[in-house]
Amino acid sequence: MREKCEPLMAIVGRPNVGKSTLFNRIIGERRAIVEREPGVTRDRIYAEGEWGGKSFSLIDTGGLVPDASQGISSLIKEQVRIAIQEADLILLLVDAQCGPTSVDEEIGRRLRKADKPIILAVNKVDNLESETAISNFYQLGLGEPVPISAIHGLRINELLDKVMELLPDEKAKAPPPGIKVAVVGRPNVGKSSFINALLQEERLIVDEEPGTTRDAVDTIFRLGEERFIFIDTAGMRQRGKVRRGVESYSIARAQGSLERCDIALLLFDAWEGVSTQDSRIAGYIEEKGKGVIIVGNKWDLVIKNQISKIKNQKCGKPHQPIIGKPMQAMESEMMKEYREIIRKKLPFLFAPIIFVSALTGHRVLKVIDLLREVTREQMLRPAKSILDRVFQEAKSHRPPGRRAKPVRLQRLKQVGIKPPTFAFYADNPEFISESYRRYLSNRLRQAFGFQGTPIKIISKGKRKR
Ligand code: GDP
Ligand code: GDP
Repeated sequence: MREKCEPLMAIVGRPNVGKSTLFNRIIGERRAIVEREPGVTRDRIYAEGEWGGKSFSLIDTGGLVPDASQGISSLIKEQVRIAIQEADLILLLVDAQCGPTSVDEEIGRRLRKADKPIILAVNKVDNLESETAISNFYQLGLGEPVPISAIHGLRINELLDKVMELLPDEKAKAPPPGIKVAVVGRPNVGKSSFINALLQEERLIVDEEPGTTRDAVDTIFRLGEERFIFIDTAGMRQRGKVRRGVESYSIARAQGSLERCDIALLLFDAWEGVSTQDSRIAGYIEEKGKGVIIVGNKWDLVIKNQISKIKNQKCGKPHQPIIGKPMQAMESEMMKEYREIIRKKLPFLFAPIIFVSALTGHRVLKVIDLLREVTREQMLRPAKSILDRVFQEAKSHRPPGRRAKPVRLQRLKQVGIKPPTFAFYADNPEFISESYRRYLSNRLRQAFGFQGTPIKIISKGKRKR
């Protein structure tokens, strides 16, 4: 069974009623924080949502079934089975434009047998005229239908309010001791400036509690109940002191901090771009299995340069300042381009990328949001039945054997977190090809995200029954 931390809501319903549109709408904001990359989030079927300060997990059960040839009724049976087994609340989505269908009725019948709170949401109510059509859905016997339009984002707030009313509370958890963060990078990329920028953020309270001797070299920030422990920052906080940046020394220091951290902030100079030295440090982070966020500092220089380029192109014409929307559009276009370059240079790091300016403090606090985000991903334990489904699907997509040796895969099991670790059981595990392992790892990322954390896949011999 799933180890419950956060209550889980499952979205069920016929194909094409708008389940994934609704799913994406609910997790939309969080998705914007993590990467928007084709293939990474698109087929995500499991995510974390948040509403009114309460967190919950979310499954799009429709996304689990790639093969419609199974027949609609077995497809629906499977969705409902998973929802009943795993979820704390089930959201049945129906389509206003089709009226209640016999399949909706079949799902309703099955759901009513389960002892779980159910919400009936009627999608595609894009305008008031179609609202009259929703009264027909009372006949499903699942209480008052909630009209929504997932695609236009209409009445999603009302829907989530209702979800929050019915969803059981999060299990009481002891407050975590804090997220340990290492700020690593080449000399002169702006590590000290970054720490100093954080020290100037009003929302972050510096925790000066006397601690152990080891803590004395760390800087601890508090934000509400949360604690962020920035490791080995004592030297970085001393302003004005000339610190000679010896490359090899900084690598050794980075390695030491990496041992102790949960998440590394890999700072690089966005103005200069990713260097071989940056890739080396990235390699250490990956090797140690730590979480990572890529932080491109000195973004102000990149923007300044771009603006002066535009000004030069317009020479002769009266100069118009670039402000508001055009500026934002230009910046997001540039970030997109830069991200693509970074991904190519560091293809093994599946990490969120953020661009900041330690000099102006711009977006520095957003890094704290990403630290939370990556922490969640590191601790993620997808529901067992969903993992089984993803595995079944992955198994049928590609033969795992190498040198034509057939390998029968039995099952995939999560055996750890931080980093999420999966063991698969097979009769001849030594014959499983590297490319199949990579495929499986990509498939797990597509389904569950795991942004900013490595995942480990280990193979085991046949399981004794
Ligand atoms: P799923 O198969 O249940 O996951 O459905 P999808 O989310 O893939 O949506 C199926 C189709 O319905 C897509 O073409 C969506 O654009 C469309 N759709 C989703 N929500 C709405 C809505 O609120 N109104 C309208 N008119 N179309 C919608
Ligand atoms: P460290 O060696 O990685 O700790 O780097 P420092 O924080 O000492 O910064 C190196 C140099 O880069 C200093 O001259 C900083 O003023 C400058 N610097 C740091 N962050 C920024 C930034 O965001 N923008 C600009 N323009 N300069 C920066």
